Amino acid sequence: MIILKSPEQIDLMRRSGKVLAQTHAKLRELVRPGITTLELDRAAEEYIRSQGAIPSFKGYQGFPGSICVAINDVVVHGIPGSQRLEEGDIIGIDIGTILGGWHADSAQTIPVGEISQEAQNLLATTERALWEGIAQAQPGNKLGDISATIEEVAKKAGYGVVRDLVGHGIGTKMHEDPQVPNFGKRGRGITLRVGMTIAIEPMFNLGTHRVVLDSDNWTVRTADGKLSAHFEHTVAITASGPVPLTTLGEERF
Ligand code: MG
Ligand code: MG
Repeated sequence: MIILKSPEQIDLMRRSGKVLAQTHAKLRELVRPGITTLELDRAAEEYIRSQGAIPSFKGYQGFPGSICVAINDVVVHGIPGSQRLEEGDIIGIDIGTILGGWHADSAQTIPVGEISQEAQNLLATTERALWEGIAQAQPGNKLGDISATIEEVAKKAGYGVVRDLVGHGIGTKMHEDPQVPNFGKRGRGITLRVGMTIAIEPMFNLGTHRVVLDSDNWTVRTADGKLSAHFEHTVAITASGPVPLTTLGEERF
């Protein structure tokens, strides 16, 4: 069941999203060779709580961190720990916040120092796919319009699109209906309506789309060990079009 949100409720989600966006901005400043992912996790938790919000991932199905980290071939859901970032790495940081009972969810993948041209292209293309997907989140469009748009960007670049993990509705729960796949067909699926709030989150791989789960039962990696990138925003579908709720600015389409 898809739960539609009122403009007032979307405004509350926007507040949660603002805290999240500020947390991302702070972590981006900290990312550098030598820092551990646990240090990033602690900085995120401290800032989120200082704003009166809660890091929603902490304790979610037993997850130990406040953020998920994804270095190089890790797609998503890596556990923060003693691993130090190295020059040339890419690190995906996924964060969830709850403020006043409202969830926000957003991820970005960040270069550590100088990265290869191949990695730069992967990051730029995955982020572009997110924004092209967001632009399709218009009332009256179909869910498949978002999915197909994202998939087409990946295919043009020759990347694998992760199929085992998808975007999702979001609101008073982190995961609500509908699922938002990063692959699909234009004109298919449910009709997008004013008041829907969804997390759109392309995950692109340099090689195969297939992924494997580590023995920690959390960390998802590419099956071939090649790089993976992940970008995500929480987006509200409004009468005037899609409104990203997890940015620092006031982007509208
Ligand atoms: Mg996320
Ligand atoms: Mg998500």
